[in-house]
Amino acid sequence: MTKCLSCGHSRHDLELNCPKCGSFYSVIDDIDDDFSPQVIEQNRATRTLLTVKQSIERVQQIGKIKIAEQKARYIIIGTIIFLIVAVIFL
Ligand SMILES: [Zn+2]
Repeated sequence: MTKCLSCGHSRHDLELNCPKCGSFYSVIDDIDDDFSPQVIEQNRATRTLLTVKQSIERVQQIGKIKIAEQKARYIIIGTIIFLIVAVIFL
């Protein structure tokens, strides 16, 4: 187990920043005697995977918002057309 360089709070392998003081861990901090190169590489890979997963989720979220906006626009346009037709024919 390694510790935060800023405050000494013990640090979890997958955390990107310290939960106590909020300072970000640099990649260089990963190089620790407790960790074999495989473990360091594995942690790095896991972090990359998490970042990619978060990016995909963000893109999906933006996509959902855009679809919702488009649906709202169609509903508004539909309502306006309906009202115009209603005013003309009723
Ligand atoms: Zn800290």
